Amino acid sequence: MAKIITIAIPKGGVGKTTTAVNLAASFAVLEKRVLLIDTDPFGACGMSLGFTQEKTKGGLYEVFSFIHSMAQVIHHTELAYLDFIPTNITSQQAEERITRLSENRTLLKNILRTITPQYDYVIIDTPPILRGLTTNALSCSDSVLIPIKPGHFSLEGIEKLFKYFEWIQEVANRNLEIEGILQTMYEPHTKVTEITDRELQLRFRKYLLKTIIPKNTQLTESSFYGKPAILFNASSKGTLAYLELARELAEKHKEAAQLQNPVTVQIPAPIKNEQV
Ligand code: ATP
Ligand code: MG
Repeated sequence: MAKIITIAIPKGGVGKTTTAVNLAASFAVLEKRVLLIDTDPFGACGMSLGFTQEKTKGGLYEVFSFIHSMAQVIHHTELAYLDFIPTNITSQQAEERITRLSENRTLLKNILRTITPQYDYVIIDTPPILRGLTTNALSCSDSVLIPIKPGHFSLEGIEKLFKYFEWIQEVANRNLEIEGILQTMYEPHTKVTEITDRELQLRFRKYLLKTIIPKNTQLTESSFYGKPAILFNASSKGTLAYLELARELAEKHKEAAQLQNPVTVQIPAPIKNEQV
């Protein structure tokens, strides 16, 4: 069964989409079967993977409206192990309709059930708001990954998300966990970074992931070319950092699975000594 990770924080421009696309691509390169789902009507994941409107054969909008099945809106990408489902919102009316439909917070959970067995990971990108499709995503996820960039507002965003997280746990998904806080667009030796680091250590230390994503312009450039960073420049600092993140998380999930299903050691039966 797939592990479902939602990327969320109610703060815009902190690297949610960049993390969703490049973490999904990195898992795929590590030969994990991955489904990336975009729940942001803006559609930045699709742009980052080169899906123009002509190349899009429907998305969450059509599934929520009972026009297509989930299987019909799965798009294969340039990476063999990576599939993608866009939101596919093309008008104001469509956006209003999907917002109304997503008031039913179990909608995504119900339609995901049919396809998750085909994947190792489902990664869900969300808009910078805590309602509608974000609530749907958190209601069906195993964990939430929280990207932040250095700055005061990111820290406030974590506080807001944590409160929302508790509410989701109470009313919709008591198994939801915090995957971790991921520092992105990291620029060492600046005052803002220094203050953010100090606050993170004080308030959220136990949630901090080991991997840090540096500020790296190649991550922005690659999205202009409609490619995940690994297919644009495989050796850039941004690419390598996201690969490192995928390894860190995969290792953590492997250890957790081993703890849940410990390998039972078979003790061989004693050899009978015929002469005794
Ligand atoms: P929104 O909330 O608006 O959807 P977001 O949280 O999804 O924003 P992104 O779109 O991923 O944020 O990133 C915002 C901008 O920062 C983009 O132009 C992106 O290319 C750039 N960016 C993201 N990560 C990095 C990085 N590590 N180094 C440099 N630029 C980055
Ligand atoms: Mg985004």
